[in-house]
Amino acid sequence: MTKPAYETILLKLSGEALMGQSEYGINFETASFIVNEVKSVVDLGVRVGIVVGGGNIFRGMQGTAEKMDRVSADYMGMLATVINSLALQDGLEKVGIPTRVQTSIEMRQIAEPFIRRRAMRHLEKNRVVIFAAGTGNPYFTTDTAATLRGTEINAEVILKATKVDGVYTSDPVVNKDAVKFDNITYLDVINRGLKVMDSTAISMCMDNKIPIIVFDIFGEGNMKKVVLGEKVGTIVEG
Ligand code: UDP
Repeated sequence: MTKPAYETILLKLSGEALMGQSEYGINFETASFIVNEVKSVVDLGVRVGIVVGGGNIFRGMQGTAEKMDRVSADYMGMLATVINSLALQDGLEKVGIPTRVQTSIEMRQIAEPFIRRRAMRHLEKNRVVIFAAGTGNPYFTTDTAATLRGTEINAEVILKATKVDGVYTSDPVVNKDAVKFDNITYLDVINRGLKVMDSTAISMCMDNKIPIIVFDIFGEGNMKKVVLGEKVGTIVEG
């Protein structure tokens, strides 16, 4: 078996990834595709932490657009990530992968609270750990939660799974002349205002020297290729 390039990874999935072609919520066929991609990586013996967003259900900014209090709206967004996390846990366990959900806001009837040492123990036992409820704080994003938890579990890389196959000079959906980067630095991402992750998450990765690999989640086999060190998507580092 080819040796994986990483021992521990943190996979960041946007909520929208789970939506597939649907307009809202979870498309179970799409979720099952993603689960199988994750399984292909777990089967390599890699330790996998996952942070999933909530944008397919609710984003804080949606609430503020409706004149909601930002903090309440952000809590709704964090709860949305818990719904997605439970769906992913269910899918992973259906294909035989023991999975734990840990939440940054306590809800013990549903999931464990986030306890770093406990998370490490699960990972050592080859359980997937899904970190839900973001950072537990309003005014943050799940990209920042992914960076934070990734750093805490000593992940060597953040895999940012998106609908686009890497980082482009501008939005390739809007601008057909957009050019894809194979590599780009953290500072370039920030200075050019590229929409990879928000600037808090990028600067945290920069400070902690964790590379981010942006790749297309819907390319079958991509996740495994990334973990085996093949050139897929864009690497943000240095
Ligand atoms: N959120 C938050 N604090 C966090 C993480 C998330 O307040 O640490 C809220 C925020 O309102 C955000 C929503 O949860 O809009 C859903 O997360 P995000 O937008 O990052 O999800 P994604 O875009 O990845 O689906």
